[in-house]
Amino acid sequence: MNIWQDDASRDLMSLGGRLALLARGEGSHVWDADGTRYLDFLGGIAVNCLGHAHPVFVDAVSTQAATLSHISNYFASAAQLELAARLKRLAGTGERGRVFLANSGGEANEMAIKLARLHGNPTGRTTILVVDGAFHGRTMGALSLTPKPAYREPFEPALPGIRTVQHSIESLEAAFDDTVAAMIVEPIQGEAGVVSHPDGFLQRARELATAHGALLILDEVQTGAGRTGEWFAFQREGIVPDAVTMAKSIAGGFPLGAMITFGDASDLFYPGTHNSTFGGNPLASATANAVLGFIEEQDLLANVNARGAQLREGVSGLPLVTGTRGAGLLVGITLAVPVAGAVRAAAQRRGLIVNAPTDDVIRIAPAYTIGDAEIAEFLDLFGASLAEVAATTAPTATTEAQK
Ligand SMILES: *Cc1c(COP(=O)(O)O)cnc(C)c1O
Repeated sequence: MNIWQDDASRDLMSLGGRLALLARGEGSHVWDADGTRYLDFLGGIAVNCLGHAHPVFVDAVSTQAATLSHISNYFASAAQLELAARLKRLAGTGERGRVFLANSGGEANEMAIKLARLHGNPTGRTTILVVDGAFHGRTMGALSLTPKPAYREPFEPALPGIRTVQHSIESLEAAFDDTVAAMIVEPIQGEAGVVSHPDGFLQRARELATAHGALLILDEVQTGAGRTGEWFAFQREGIVPDAVTMAKSIAGGFPLGAMITFGDASDLFYPGTHNSTFGGNPLASATANAVLGFIEEQDLLANVNARGAQLREGVSGLPLVTGTRGAGLLVGITLAVPVAGAVRAAAQRRGLIVNAPTDDVIRIAPAYTIGDAEIAEFLDLFGASLAEVAATTAPTATTEAQK
């Protein structure tokens, strides 16, 4: 073990991670403390949408930090107002949208659960529908929405009234009744391994929610802010939710989350029902404005779509690869055998950062700014990593998780 690993074991809560001690980043590359360079195609788990140390990000943080960084929720700032108006416009809420700014995805989802309560409680509706494989965060409320037993069971009792829907329209139809306050669903399930729903699933969820007087709340923490090549993934589904949560890429690496409401759902909160000391602070808001403004100005969403397509095509035919999932620059690469952990480790040894959300899926979520050079480097390193693992993969292969 290195000295830093000893320090980490002694001082940090024992929760896994710590794959390397990273010291610096620039564009799509990071360097560890020993100077080893990595191509970062995980982007801080779909967060660093402009890469590392982008001048727009650096300038926004520095300028705002030197002007006004924190003021509490007793006060408003121009940066916060600009961001709220921008998010309404990007989400297409029209006049009757409202925005709340939080500090993380989990927090944005906590507020979404409270929205469901404010909507359902007056008529005694307390059921919340979630989808099998969902991930909504680690805070107690968000955790209650997460069906995966390994995440939830140690912390039970969870919130009551959570009902899990399977990935089928029949299951969706069977789950809706007049006790449902809301359905909370990711348009594409990132942590589950970049999993989309069956065709028509979200449209049917919209219809059923409306028919039963329930809210449809989309968790776009991972898919929002342009990750899938639209500002929000729901915009490619032709549906309008009652609320959407977002975080990850929203401020290019500065911690920030948001919940955006549409129509009548905008009237549910009232003074005293929610707030956050740090949420919507000028520093985070100004950074988000700069990052989102730059994405718009440069039409980076066109690059997200083009580079996503180029990557999908590039990985097809590499050893062990059976296909790709997701949209834009949220890409799940499926493997023929459950060796994703070994592939991730081999990639890191070769200087490439990717992630293995499940035993047979590699997830990549690179910066929106990537070009031919980054893609060529990725395909080279990733192809070599796959070939290395394929060569040592007999039917007896063990995954990294099993070691
Ligand atoms: C990452 C993620 C969360 C949790 O966000 P945090 O900022 O880690 O609290 C919630 N929902 C989805 C879909 C996510 O991908």
